[in-house]
Amino acid sequence: MEDNNPPGTEEQRSVGSEAYIALGANVGNREQLLRDALNLLEKHPEISVLRVSSIYETAPVGYTDQPAFLNMAAALRTTLSPMQLLHAMQAMENQLGRKRDIRWGPRTIDLDLLLYEQVILPDEELTLPHPRMMERAFVLVPLGDVLQNEHTLYKQVTAIAQRALQDRGEGIALWNTINWQDASAHSVS
Ligand code: ATP
Ligand code: MG
Ligand code: MG
Repeated sequence: MEDNNPPGTEEQRSVGSEAYIALGANVGNREQLLRDALNLLEKHPEISVLRVSSIYETAPVGYTDQPAFLNMAAALRTTLSPMQLLHAMQAMENQLGRKRDIRWGPRTIDLDLLLYEQVILPDEELTLPHPRMMERAFVLVPLGDVLQNEHTLYKQVTAIAQRALQDRGEGIALWNTINWQDASAHSVS
């Protein structure tokens, strides 16, 4: 019997849970910070970055006296639990110089967990789905890029996202597109 498949076969790559995250930066080299965050996620032994959205530039909402944001979203596969994933993301925020002073204020990087499979969690430390995602164009537009077509929220998210992109009043515009290749996909040659 020949079994010379290297580690990281189709089967192994489907192990774990699918999660969607939002990334945002409005201080420093914003695009580099997004890339650094993606690389930290990918380097984590229990996380792989499956798909990344385009990068969008968005006007700040809520606390508006601050620079524009770059926002994006990513689809992950992970063997971490939701809470373990949140803690890993917070450690990466800290590593990238996140300071917590003004809520919704300027930040080098914000990593929010939007969806983890179909998990519903009402915890203050971790609320799933993310409690404010459905009212935020800067979350839904990038999320629409990476959400699987079969996902229960796909139609709703992409409908809102399309309207927001057409409506200049939403203050969101395409900024750049990252060419991301799922590193685990290369372990099978
Ligand atoms: P917002 O949550 O409105 O986007 P924010 O991202 O600026 O605001 P943070 O300062 O990053 O807020 O996080 C505040 C707290 O939110 C964190 O201490 C974290 O425990 C909690 N939190 C609850 N649910 C989530 C979630 N789904 N993703 C990330 N953080 C969450
Ligand atoms: Mg946030
Ligand atoms: Mg946050």
